[in-house]
Amino acid sequence: MDLGLAGRGALITGAARGIGKAEADALAAEGVAVAINDIDEAAALETVEAYRRAGITAIACIGDVSDPADAARVVDAAAAGLGRLDILVNNAGAGWRHMGKLTEEMAVEDWDKIIDTHLRSSFLCTKFAIPHMRRAGFGRIVNTSSINYTGGGRSGVVNYTAAKAGIAGFTRNVAKEVGPHGITVNAIAPGYVETALTERFSDARRRIITGQNPVGRYCRLDEIGALVAYLCSNQAAFINGTLVPLDGGRNDFWWDGN
Ligand code: NAD
Repeated sequence: MDLGLAGRGALITGAARGIGKAEADALAAEGVAVAINDIDEAAALETVEAYRRAGITAIACIGDVSDPADAARVVDAAAAGLGRLDILVNNAGAGWRHMGKLTEEMAVEDWDKIIDTHLRSSFLCTKFAIPHMRRAGFGRIVNTSSINYTGGGRSGVVNYTAAKAGIAGFTRNVAKEVGPHGITVNAIAPGYVETALTERFSDARRRIITGQNPVGRYCRLDEIGALVAYLCSNQAAFINGTLVPLDGGRNDFWWDGN
């Protein structure tokens, strides 16, 4: 199926590695020029270099997308550098260093870090991308929630759950605002994926995660990339304001260990 994406321009946040890079890979494979944002400059430049060597149009837009000034600069640099901004994938994520504490023990800084990196950055980049998309009369925004957004997961992640539930609500609501302008906004809710975010899991925890999954494994990076590419396509123009789970049918999960 031709997704009709060739020639479009996309900004993917937190795309130097992991899920963001897989999403950039999938979009680039459809002929999309990609702007790779990350706070990790060295890793982002390396990713962009690899794309260029493969003949893919790619630029780096370094910055902290949870910071309003950086987010505005990153979005504008992507639009200017690519000559257009059709697609925004809000993916940037912060790690376990800021999770794992029960609510009564959680530092306010850890609450803020997770909410800001995931939810605030999604608001900021969306806010700054909408004017570009409105001018073009076309836009696709994909936000990153998680299987954890229901709050049914393990304890010690109230900040992460709140951020991912916030992203689900934000997605539904902003979709209503921008739908009339040819812009769709959707969220994906992946189950566990092998990335830097999950590499610290113990073997026992991995066995529980895969054992509880009806499909019996983690989600694959290419499966996420394929879903995001589809949500950005012309064919997905009527999919708006929804959250798409990518979890093998495992809707809930309980684990208190590490
Ligand atoms: P990752 O740690 O491999 O990659 C995240 C990237 O975001 C890193 O390159 C990091 O440098 C970058 N980043 C962090 N803060 C940033 C900021 N303020 N501005 C710009 N870039 C920033 O993580 P991942 O597993 O690829 O996760 C990506 C997204 O997918 C996150 O939103 C995460 O919550 C979500 N997710 C992950 C899983 C999983 O199992 N790995 C499951 C569901 C959802």
